[in-house]
Amino acid sequence: MEKTDIKSMDYPELSAFLTGMGEKSFRAGQIYQWLHEKLAQSFSEMTNLSAALRERLNESCELTCLEPVEILTSRIDGTQKYLFRLADGNVIESVLMKYHHGNSVCISSQAGCRMGCRFCASTIGGLKRNLTPAELLEQVYQIRRLSGERVSNVVLMGTGEPLDNYENVKKFICMLSDERGQNISGRNITLSTCGIVPNIYRLAKEGLQITLALSLHASSQEKRRDLMPIANKYSLDQVMEACRSYYDLTGRRLTFEYSLVGGVNDTVRDAQELAGLVRGMNCHINLIPVNPIEERSYVQSDKKTILKFKNKLENYGINVTIRREMGRDVNGACGQLRRHYIEETKDTHSLQDTGQTGPICPKGTESEEEI
Ligand code: SAH
Repeated sequence: MEKTDIKSMDYPELSAFLTGMGEKSFRAGQIYQWLHEKLAQSFSEMTNLSAALRERLNESCELTCLEPVEILTSRIDGTQKYLFRLADGNVIESVLMKYHHGNSVCISSQAGCRMGCRFCASTIGGLKRNLTPAELLEQVYQIRRLSGERVSNVVLMGTGEPLDNYENVKKFICMLSDERGQNISGRNITLSTCGIVPNIYRLAKEGLQITLALSLHASSQEKRRDLMPIANKYSLDQVMEACRSYYDLTGRRLTFEYSLVGGVNDTVRDAQELAGLVRGMNCHINLIPVNPIEERSYVQSDKKTILKFKNKLENYGINVTIRREMGRDVNGACGQLRRHYIEETKDTHSLQDTGQTGPICPKGTESEEEI
């Protein structure tokens, strides 16, 4: 019999599950607190439950925990990059960033990604699978346990496209902000998307209070299509319309992410077009100097160009920041640590086992579902 993934259950589901086992409903409160507030890693820690109940839970439920494979700490800014192994052998990465105003954790929403953005390392091996609510939560929990740090902000900006794993991500956000658990307010959670338009409309109606960050990266449909294949499916106009609607429904200020790629999208003309695109919107633009990855030839814009771009936007009265490069010495860019790990283990496999040089996961395991 397959075991129940108890950590992926929200409070009402846990309550129904326990009542179904013939337990009193107050047990749900106790167990939810052990799992999501006290961050227990085994049923044996749950000392206010009877030994018999702990035994029954142990037999019927699985307690998802992430195994740390590697933790790298930046000597530049203290950023910590974590590589975790999932129960099925897939690896994912998460990051702890320390700021004056509190700690922020950046988590992955999928193992791999199928969005294909040209400058992103996360997408190179394709999508392996969606992460479960428990695996999403555990990235935050495991970082809290291992670092001993409090976490005040969570950003869905790691590997994967959160709106391509909609239901699990939604549940994760609700559970993370549940006051019986970590109680991290929606206002301190940011979801970054490449622009899956129907799901932006859906998200706007959930009443979550989270910040939406849209990966824009270009101010014309043509340039955006060259950088981001998703633009073939949803045009720039459609995505901007969806963002306006998100703001109208939620009242939450939007963030636009714009990765500056040398010689591609970084001219003064690009900045002017970008200003035109967001005119009248309550938004903030986050410029990200592209983090070069080995597999692609993109280069960073030089400092002068970046500042010129920023100034131009500011002249139009737009709120702009340049993202501080966190942990560049520890494979800071999206998906780089995971990518390196997969490459290294692939070499080991190919030398010792099969001599193959292809991906370690057989092709058939990649999802081919339509977006
Ligand atoms: N799938 C989500 C989350 C991706 S990661 C999305 O597309 O928004 C968060 C941000 O980092 C995105 O804006 C992404 O486009 C950007 N990014 C990825 N790789 C990058 C790189 N090498 N340099 C700069 N920005 C990068």
